[in-house]
Amino acid sequence: MIPRLKIWFKRTKRFIGSFYFINKNKLLGRSFVPHPRKRLFIEPISYCNLACKFCTYPKNLHPKTVMDEDLFRSSIDQAAAMGFECIVLTPINGEIFMDKNAIERLRYIENSVIKTYQFYTNFIGANNVAIKSLFALKKISYLEVSIYGHDFESFCNITGRGKEQYDRLVENLTTLESLFSQKPPGLNICLSIRTYRSFQFNKGSQNELLEIIEKLRQAGVQIGLSSQVDNWGGDIGESDVADIEMDLIDGKHLYKKGPCGLPFDSVQITAEGKVNACACRDPRGSLLLGDLNLTSLSSIHTPDNEKWIGIVRDHEIGNFNDVCASCGFYQSIYDERRVVDTEFMTKNDYIDQARDLE
Ligand code: SF4
Ligand code: SF4
Repeated sequence: MIPRLKIWFKRTKRFIGSFYFINKNKLLGRSFVPHPRKRLFIEPISYCNLACKFCTYPKNLHPKTVMDEDLFRSSIDQAAAMGFECIVLTPINGEIFMDKNAIERLRYIENSVIKTYQFYTNFIGANNVAIKSLFALKKISYLEVSIYGHDFESFCNITGRGKEQYDRLVENLTTLESLFSQKPPGLNICLSIRTYRSFQFNKGSQNELLEIIEKLRQAGVQIGLSSQVDNWGGDIGESDVADIEMDLIDGKHLYKKGPCGLPFDSVQITAEGKVNACACRDPRGSLLLGDLNLTSLSSIHTPDNEKWIGIVRDHEIGNFNDVCASCGFYQSIYDERRVVDTEFMTKNDYIDQARDLE
């Protein structure tokens, strides 16, 4: 009964907070979206080496492939020509170090006019050579290592994988710590731990994973801890997360008003070359904007694309499609809590500026 009450309390608190911020800003005519050329997602690969229970990867909703090299280079070239500042290489479902050309591809971005790039990784597919190579790069600005579980048992339970993958994770974190002094100054590294809600640092038994995390913390790495997961637009349910002690955010209980911010700052070129309006929670590709195999990025990624403006217009009038209506990752552009470390503008300014840039 008590856990249920806690969930209800958290959900209600979140709903009230969203209601307040969204309506206040909507009344004041304020919305929060970044510059239209702030960032673009490119998915170099859509294979993963884990099968996390809270993720849609094991459900095979998103086509699995490695992006063709010509397509990758053309995507970077087109993004550079359009003036994108940052490339995010985090797949919607997948792991960047499963790509044997990962470092070569990063070097290709290094040699372009793109200013920075970043990605999330589970780090298991990396190795000594790759980590050393990463630290020799200049434009990488953010690396987030996602760690699932806090010990061997929880790692296996959450990820569906075993000792080989766990040992590689610990080994790669150990290498990261040993090379940390060689980290490029512009690179921020974060370890994001997702594990059981009962876990607390410095309580319970220690293990090799927690020890290396602590060493990295002492070296200056930021550590995040969460036991919250979301329902991936309705594709993840309570039964999927029943035995991993995590709290599921069900998008049906969120207060939704106004366009979601992701079509403004998280458009993704998938490994297949499709362009999707959401890089984070639409593995089925229902927010498809176009196909880079058929036409240019500039003709797809524009407010004049009827599909893009249609999504924004529909969200504005509360007409959310199935995936967005169920989505637990929704972020209203009227919610000022979206403003983090970058400059934001209004929706209308975004559209005007995007048109001016064409
Ligand atoms: S959460 Fe990430 S690491 Fe886990 S299965 Fe999904 S894509 Fe792979
Ligand atoms: S509501 Fe969810 S699926 Fe829709 S654009 Fe936002 S994050 Fe993506």
